[in-house]
Amino acid sequence: MNAKIMDGSALARELRADCKIRAAGLTEKGMQPGLAVVIAGDNPASRIYVRNKAKACSDTGIYSEIHEFSENASQDEVIERIQELNRNSRIHGILVQLPLPRRFESDKVIASVAVEKDVDGFHLYNVGSLVTGNAIFPPCTPHGVIKILEKYSVPIEGQHAVVVGRSNIVGKPMALMLLQRGATVTICTSKTRDLAEHTHRADILVVATGKPHMITASMVKDGAAVIDVGINRMPDGKLAGDVEFESVKEKAGYITPVPGGVGPVTIAMLLYNTIEAAERAYARA
Ligand code: NDP
Repeated sequence: MNAKIMDGSALARELRADCKIRAAGLTEKGMQPGLAVVIAGDNPASRIYVRNKAKACSDTGIYSEIHEFSENASQDEVIERIQELNRNSRIHGILVQLPLPRRFESDKVIASVAVEKDVDGFHLYNVGSLVTGNAIFPPCTPHGVIKILEKYSVPIEGQHAVVVGRSNIVGKPMALMLLQRGATVTICTSKTRDLAEHTHRADILVVATGKPHMITASMVKDGAAVIDVGINRMPDGKLAGDVEFESVKEKAGYITPVPGGVGPVTIAMLLYNTIEAAERAYARA
């Protein structure tokens, strides 16, 4: 079998075009959607992500601000700025770029974001809303994965979904969102015994480990939908996923490439959540 390639870049363009229309509609009504990105420390990858997010906002008609703090900034200083942004009516979404410097208590910083502006969906209240099945802001990456599955009409209900990875930002919310949609979900971690035994039974396989090419064709069921969340910078400077794309595409029914799969859709979902936040603020005003 030769898998159908699930084109995340094309889907992201569609989603962004829709966001642009909604942003323009709000701007006309006097409420241009606004996103503030808070970044602390000098992680070079984070700085690139933040710049890309700001560019995506400006391309979509969303106002954006970047609030940068040095590696030596204090946690209180950052929280104080977030509290100001919570009160700022120009800003509808606040994103704290992770990871924060090691000495920060990330949970405490994220908890200072107003729930109605938590467009990343990482605030504990939002996490709770996801657990109970009524997500306020579904986290962008797993939400993007759901959008990809929907776009390609991959059924979720009744299917066996295997999620490899249990991080708070990808694996766990991904598993909850699949469960909510009626999948039977298995979560695998670095402690799982015989990973292949589980992945081989997956109708939908979502991989988010940060381990390049760890999923090989022999670990995948014929015809499965394989979603590769991993983004790994290889020694030659190229990006690679967690799935061995060339061999797995011969066996899977559907597969996402890296780059051009989940990554661009994740950014589109951030824009989507920011517009949602602005529309809700407009409805409340
Ligand atoms: P984390 O490092 O936080 O989590 C990785 C998870 O993978 C852990 O739960 C770990 O298990 C598990 N894992 C590691 N090795 C194995 C293994 N050999 N077998 C089974 N499970 C394993 O990573 P993130 O979730 O933050 O990110 C994962 C990948 O996704 C990264 O490449 C990241 O760059 C990418 N990413 C992509 C995004 C996008 O937009 N496309 C957005 C966010 C992340 P354990 O808990 O036991 O250690």
